[in-house]
Amino acid sequence: MAEVLVLVDHVDGAVRKSTAEMLTAATRLGEASAVYVGAGAEKIAPLLGRFGAHKVYAVDSPEVTGYLVAPVAEVLAQLVEKTSPAAVLVPSNAEGKEIAARLAVKTESGLVTDAVDVAPGEGGVQTTQSVFAGNYTVTSLVTHGSPVITVKANSMPVAEAPSPGTVEAVEVSVSDAAKAAKITETKPKEKSGRPQLTEAPIVVSGGRGTAGDFGPVEEFADSLGAAVGASRAAVDAGWYPHSSQVGQTGVQVSPQLYVAAGISGAIQHRAGMQTSKTIVAVNKDPEAPIFELVDFGVVGDLFQVLPQATAEVKSR
Ligand code: FAD
Repeated sequence: MAEVLVLVDHVDGAVRKSTAEMLTAATRLGEASAVYVGAGAEKIAPLLGRFGAHKVYAVDSPEVTGYLVAPVAEVLAQLVEKTSPAAVLVPSNAEGKEIAARLAVKTESGLVTDAVDVAPGEGGVQTTQSVFAGNYTVTSLVTHGSPVITVKANSMPVAEAPSPGTVEAVEVSVSDAAKAAKITETKPKEKSGRPQLTEAPIVVSGGRGTAGDFGPVEEFADSLGAAVGASRAAVDAGWYPHSSQVGQTGVQVSPQLYVAAGISGAIQHRAGMQTSKTIVAVNKDPEAPIFELVDFGVVGDLFQVLPQATAEVKSR
């Protein structure tokens, strides 16, 4: 059975849920092998094995970790040459997409971004993709080379498929060209105590309707253990950090539950959240376009509705 390489999505060894999704998907295409860039692969291997990784290729060299994405693409290209995998799955974030593009060029392989499903196809790997800011879903068949596929977080189910997860150290050889951009300092972001926006199973977002007071949005989010998002109007007004912007020019989220409070539902906002499994809106305007999209809508003032909802959740 051909190998399927999965680039592990992690921050300093804390493996993101998207990795479990990719490994689960990989087991449908062949034998899943994780590629882990960083220190401590031995510690992480059992976790990766739990989701189906037969092997963990450990890439732990300052030649790779000390630079931006180009060396990762080179190392992956070397692994593709060595293993001729059925596919390479990479997280669909900014870094992942750059790595995927570089890798596809190096290996002369077909590239698909923002996949929400993968399956073995006639003569290649069939992918389902979310395109044009989530407005269309298309099915593609990658037939050339070792398909390079970026996988959207929160879009695929996770299943356990225990495997040994044995670790194999990768000998790294990185060109000078790939080392053009060096990492000189890394500062961790201040931790809010809330889950990460792109990973969270529940997201509560506030818009211009909050008039700058995100208190009720945050309190409701905290009662549900949710992440907090914002519309661009709220971000542009300086009410919430840019990193929390959901939409076409912000982050794309696909949680189990998305709550939009005081958000009108502009197309650019929808682009970042319309693939959420269940959508709820609170808006005082019954004609607000967001109501065309929702599973449940509450016509009302968010300053009354959200505190009531928070109290209800807390009472359970
Ligand atoms: P508004 O459209 O002003 O809506 C506010 C809503 O709050 C209204 O529906 C109102 O009825 C309701 N409301 C007011 N008071 C209350 C209350 N007390 N209780 C309940 N409801 C209340 N936008 C994004 O969000 N993300 C993006 O990534 C993004 N990218 C863009 C890229 C481009 C190129 C462009 C041109 C625009 C982009 N936008 C983006 C902006 C987008 O077009 C909208 O302007 C923006 O989403 C509006 O934000 P909003 O819904 O918070 O504000």
